[in-house]
Amino acid sequence: MLKVTYRGRFAPSPTGPLHFGSLVAATGSFLEARTHGGEWLLRIEDVDAPRCSSAAATAMLSALEAHGFEWDGHPVWQSRRADAYAATLERLIAAGHVFACACTRRELADSAIAPDGAAIYPGTCRAGLPPGRAARAWRLRVGTARIAFDDAIQGHVESDLAREAGDFILRRADGLFAYQLAVVVDDAEAGITHVVRGADLLLSTARQIHLQGCLGVAMPAYAHLPVAVNAAGEKLSKQTLAAPLDLLRPAASVVAALDFLGQSPPAGLAAADVAAVWAWAVANWRLARVPRGPAPCPVA
Ligand code: GLU
Repeated sequence: MLKVTYRGRFAPSPTGPLHFGSLVAATGSFLEARTHGGEWLLRIEDVDAPRCSSAAATAMLSALEAHGFEWDGHPVWQSRRADAYAATLERLIAAGHVFACACTRRELADSAIAPDGAAIYPGTCRAGLPPGRAARAWRLRVGTARIAFDDAIQGHVESDLAREAGDFILRRADGLFAYQLAVVVDDAEAGITHVVRGADLLLSTARQIHLQGCLGVAMPAYAHLPVAVNAAGEKLSKQTLAAPLDLLRPAASVVAALDFLGQSPPAGLAAADVAAVWAWAVANWRLARVPRGPAPCPVA
């Protein structure tokens, strides 16, 4: 059997409709996979159940189809994978990588804040729960780990996890598994070789590489795409009220994403049908032309 040398994926969180920011990540990861003769898998990242809905996930799948994306196999739904996350957490606890944490949000309110907005854990329960306190969440020790990796777009990236992120949560106080754990378990189980996603996740990548090391699973290659921002400089998201893509004009949106990714699509391509846009894109895609970003979103 032929060994797969490139397996990529797109892993949207179904918190709202497909917007230009997610289209950029889908486009970049899809074209990298296809131009390497690789597979492109789809994973619905609905592990944070209160923020996600199956209606949004279904709408996202239809929107991807309307934009001409074709994925390999069936999408994986994180909401159905709690057993796999629980088994991995047990392993990490048994190996001493994870500790129980009793701290409440209020107790951590004065913590330093990581560049991506997460609280940097001050270490209160790292050596054991304080007397009389019960476990609420489970955290991964980062120790003195310094993470370095070579990103195909952003270049050499280094991070000092203790200072920049701190011991991070793998299972939350509400019982839900954290995104960091779910992504590492799912990417490893699917045999993902290449992760192409937005540069807003760079610090998450450092956390995930540390977790991969604790689990002894392979580190995929990474390429972090420029992030599309709104007029206020904020990443497009449901919270920043990103506009849903117009499903009646998929070619124009894909062309805008290609332009955003530095591919200089020819004038007039937006008027073609979406299959012709993808044919042009597959024939002309060059990762080396992708800017590091961030850049303003070109479509309203
Ligand atoms: N679900 C994440 C998001 O939509 C992406 C995670 C990933 O690509 O690893 O931001």
